[in-house]
Amino acid sequence: MRAVVFRDRDVLALEDRPDPVPAPGEVVVEVAAVGICGTDTHVFDGEFEGTVFPIVPGHEATGTVVAVGGEVSGIAEGDHVAINPSTTCGQCEFCRDGRTNLCRSWNGLGVVASDGAAQQRVAVPAGNAYVLRPETDLHQAALIEPLACAIRAYDLLPRRLGQHYLIYGSGTMGLIMAQLAPRAGAASVTIVDVNADRLVTAGQVGVEHRLTGADEADRPSWDVVIDCTGNVGAIEDGLPRVKPGGTFQHFGVAPTDATAGYSPFRVYRDEISIVGTMAVLNSFGAAVEMFEAGALEPEPMISHSFTLDDYARALEMFRGGQGRKLQIRPNDTESRVLAV
Ligand SMILES: [Zn+2]
Ligand SMILES: [Zn+2]
Repeated sequence: MRAVVFRDRDVLALEDRPDPVPAPGEVVVEVAAVGICGTDTHVFDGEFEGTVFPIVPGHEATGTVVAVGGEVSGIAEGDHVAINPSTTCGQCEFCRDGRTNLCRSWNGLGVVASDGAAQQRVAVPAGNAYVLRPETDLHQAALIEPLACAIRAYDLLPRRLGQHYLIYGSGTMGLIMAQLAPRAGAASVTIVDVNADRLVTAGQVGVEHRLTGADEADRPSWDVVIDCTGNVGAIEDGLPRVKPGGTFQHFGVAPTDATAGYSPFRVYRDEISIVGTMAVLNSFGAAVEMFEAGALEPEPMISHSFTLDDYARALEMFRGGQGRKLQIRPNDTESRVLAV
């Protein structure tokens, strides 16, 4: 079978590899789709903390179970699954405390030390494979992994109805956060992106207020402001727009050495909460439930699919900010434009 391999930082190759055989407790999944996101570029650039090369990238994946190892129950050959890429040590202080996403030996498939899904078949721990309904679109369901990150983010936000939400960034994560806000009881949702083109998709998935700058809005402040860009300019623009008593959330991944300025007096005086959120914690099952309940409008969100041969082209296109969610479909024979 064929696999995309990051042999080292900035060294991409296509390799022929033997078909994976499931160890006890594992299943082998024939990969239907795997999304590309900023994490993949960080891994490729050698900027992701802890990556061990060589590694097969790909952590937002779905597929069909084609082999089941010993000691596995509840999953059978032919099942459609979404893969939770996080594995944790179970032994560190944070795992023992139930905060496994903070595990000091956190290992994301395709991100840290285990091979990911940019290959025709991948072996994964059975506990990381979530069975989908047969009628669920297996390609679109690759949005379940980013949805699981978004649900974790909402788990950390205050539970109040009738709040006004401001979201920075109309990429995949901003679009998912915006689509969840009404389900979290938002009174209004405003999305801001400096790139007006990206706001078109926000309209297609039903976000009412779409602006290229928050100054254009008809309100000066919001109860919840969520940064989905990791961009310091956006963060510094957004934090002062939090209402007294409100919350600012860092969802976007800023460069590891970035610093942002804010007024400590204002955070003190107005009781502003600043909240971080990282990956998935006990939210993957909920993401499957929400996706299958129609919480997302997946069709306009996925713009292109690529074969394994075109992986490098997909990565370049992602870096160039072109398209929307780009997917690799490792068992497809041609790359396709899905939505424009
Ligand atoms: Zn991702
Ligand atoms: Zn741990």
